[in-house]
Amino acid sequence: MVTGASSGIGAATARRLAAQGYHVVLGARRTELVEELAAELGGTGRQLDVTDETSVNAFVEGLDSVHVLINNAGGAKGLDPVATADLDDWRWMWETNVLGTLRVTKALIPALIDSGDGLIVTITSIAALEAYDNGSGYTSAKHAQAVMHRTLRYELLGKPVRLTEIAPGMVETDFSLVRFDGDQERADAVYQGLTPLTADDVAEVIGFVASRPPHVDLDQIVLKPRDQASARRNVKTG
Ligand code: NAP
Repeated sequence: MVTGASSGIGAATARRLAAQGYHVVLGARRTELVEELAAELGGTGRQLDVTDETSVNAFVEGLDSVHVLINNAGGAKGLDPVATADLDDWRWMWETNVLGTLRVTKALIPALIDSGDGLIVTITSIAALEAYDNGSGYTSAKHAQAVMHRTLRYELLGKPVRLTEIAPGMVETDFSLVRFDGDQERADAVYQGLTPLTADDVAEVIGFVASRPPHVDLDQIVLKPRDQASARRNVKTG
């Protein structure tokens, strides 16, 4: 099951897992996109809004078994200093990244345990490891999402479920377009002058994680483009 599978890392991960033989179940708010991709991959596409409990419950209802959950739905809104923080942007980021991951994970823990060999992959970010100027709405949400995921690693110890946190640096997807509210020029500028990761680069790593034997847990994987040393430093900033 892949949340946020209508674009970017989620869509690429669905492709990768389908190629590895999984029946993929794809969810996102843009239902037509997940239905289209699911049809191409021989999987199932359904409407999912991770900020809505009813939508999450309807999404998981009727699934016989779930082996792999990819908590990918998320993103950033705005790039504002704390002094002028937009509360609605913060609410969006916390609802989607933190509570969204909580809602879906909570709903699926029993099925993942019952599968006998479950895997939960949560896409956090290097923003879950560092702070950066003007990014506190996103970095705080990603820190919270990551701590929830890491806590679950302790709480499920002894149960047949592996947990992997994937913390990517800069990946060229719709991420910046969403962050800058559809401003294509501003989004493109983020990736100019360096070579970012692609969604496929991240999906390939997730495919590797999913194909390890049940006793091997890749707890945390940080991947960045060669051109980016940290959230604050890349070849452009020096
Ligand atoms: P993206 O192309 O914008 O994809 C975000 C996905 O999340 C979309 O499929 C979107 O689908 C879905 N989504 C957003 N709100 C949702 C909601 N309420 N319910 C269900 N799905 C929702 O960006 P991306 O880069 O692939 O982002 C995927 C994940 O990677 C995010 O968690 C992001 O924070 C993380 N990440 C990205 C980067 C980066 O540089 N790109 C780096 C580190 C981590 P709909 O709009 O159709 O609902």
